[in-house]
Amino acid sequence: MPIIALLDSLQKLTSSWFSRYRHTSVASNNNLTPTIEGILRSRFTDAQGMQVFELESLEFDVRSRGHSAIVDLESKRCTCRVFDIDRISCAHAIAASWLAKIDLYDLCSEYYSTMSWCMAYSETVYPVPEENEWPRIHFCCLLC
Ligand SMILES: [Zn+2]
Repeated sequence: MPIIALLDSLQKLTSSWFSRYRHTSVASNNNLTPTIEGILRSRFTDAQGMQVFELESLEFDVRSRGHSAIVDLESKRCTCRVFDIDRISCAHAIAASWLAKIDLYDLCSEYYSTMSWCMAYSETVYPVPEENEWPRIHFCCLLC
C-alpha cells in the first residue's frame, strides 16, 4: 500500500476510535471506566465475608479463609500488593473501606476515572492535507 494511502487509512481508523470512545465516555454515568467498574464489582464480591480489624485510624488487618492482609488506606497499599500495583482497590481494601466509611472510588487512581477517559479522547485526529496544501519550507530559511 502506498504510504500516503496507508497514513490516510490509519488516520480514519484512529479518528473513528477517538469519536466512538469520546461519545461512550461522555455518555457514561459511572465514576470509573467500564473495565475498572467490572474489576471492582468482582473484587466487591470477593470482599464480602472478610473480617476487618482496625489497627490504626486508616490501617486494617483483613482476614479471609485463613489468610491475612494488612491494608493502609492512607498510602493506598496492601500486603497482597494488588492495590499497590494496580492502583485499584483489592478485595482487602474494599472490605477495609466499608469499616472506614471511605468512598471506594476515592481509593482508585484518578487515571481510571471517567473524567480522565473523556480527556484521553477529547482531541481530534485531523486528516493529512493534500500534498499541494503542505507548507513549503525553504532550506535557506532554516539556516538563517
Ligand atoms: Zn489486598
